[in-house]
Amino acid sequence: MSESAAATTAPRNVIIIGSGPAGYTAAIYNARAALEPLVFEGSVTAGGALMTTTEVENFPGFRNGIQGPDLMDEMRAQAERFGAEIISDDIVEVDLTGPVKVVKTATDTYTARSVVLATGSGYRKLGLPNEERLSGRGVSYCATCDGFFFREQHIAVVGGGDSAVEEATFLTRFGSKVSLIVRRDEMRASKIMQERAFADPKLEIIWNSVVDSINGEESLESVTLRDTVTGGTSVLPATGLFVAIGHEPRSELLVGQVDLDDNGYVLVQPGSTATNLPGVFASGDLVDHRYRQAITAAGSGCAAALDAERFIAELD
Ligand code: FAD
Repeated sequence: MSESAAATTAPRNVIIIGSGPAGYTAAIYNARAALEPLVFEGSVTAGGALMTTTEVENFPGFRNGIQGPDLMDEMRAQAERFGAEIISDDIVEVDLTGPVKVVKTATDTYTARSVVLATGSGYRKLGLPNEERLSGRGVSYCATCDGFFFREQHIAVVGGGDSAVEEATFLTRFGSKVSLIVRRDEMRASKIMQERAFADPKLEIIWNSVVDSINGEESLESVTLRDTVTGGTSVLPATGLFVAIGHEPRSELLVGQVDLDDNGYVLVQPGSTATNLPGVFASGDLVDHRYRQAITAAGSGCAAALDAERFIAELD
């Protein structure tokens, strides 16, 4: 559709930006409420974070687990079945401040009475060769998601903040041994978290070290560590590597429009998905820096769709 053609059509009821569990769930609910939602799923990463993983064992309803991409294909097809229109393009600009919300791709402009934001967040990566290739084959970014796969194995965890220490402590339930790799000779994690880690007999802390390389053919076999003081290297055999160096919410589009917290997550009113802008609702990992699970993202996508539905009903 050309820019002028798209812009001159009447505003849609709902535009959903994002296509992970939050966006597709919002689409299912809004489509079943006959709101004919328009979903922008992104061009490269359509389907969201689970497209990059293998087995998902904790999404309810699949007793034998399901491959991440298969789960997302099902959600997408379910949304389409009820009439959601899905466009495989990126939104590059938005104006959400007025009663008519404007969203733009590189070529077209669309308008809507309400918008559900569901663009997710990305795990910060180490940026090393083999990291991508061995992701899901030993390299992971989520202990809650993948810890179970590493029973009685040697697990390495990278990071020195609260979440790294929390993940490392949690992983001692599964691993025969957990090695927490910390860049400096101290950690940013809270004192109480550190004390818990120091007291854990299965957890060793490797201070003043960074991961220099990730090694393995079919799956992770070891990591090479570099001592940040001496420059010396050593090989740590491990079949699991959990990278816990932070997340980045995909909220660049929203800067200056929707209220964000200091880390860039969208702020919503307590107990709701409403942002500071009327008719704009936010869901999933774009909002959630605490749980970050497919099921919680889907749950908040559902809530955002219901909030949008009520907002539109009040306008009519
Ligand atoms: P996402 O899934 O991140 O989806 C957002 C998507 O929106 C983006 O990928 C993109 O396609 C689209 N988008 C972003 N910006 C734009 C834009 N400007 N225009 C258009 N579209 C846009 N959770 C579990 O519960 N169980 C697991 O086993 C599990 N395993 C995981 C394994 C890996 C490797 C990873 C990375 C995550 C895993 N998670 C797991 C976490 C889970 O995937 C996330 O919590 C969940 O996907 C968040 O959903 P979301 O809808 O908020 O965002």
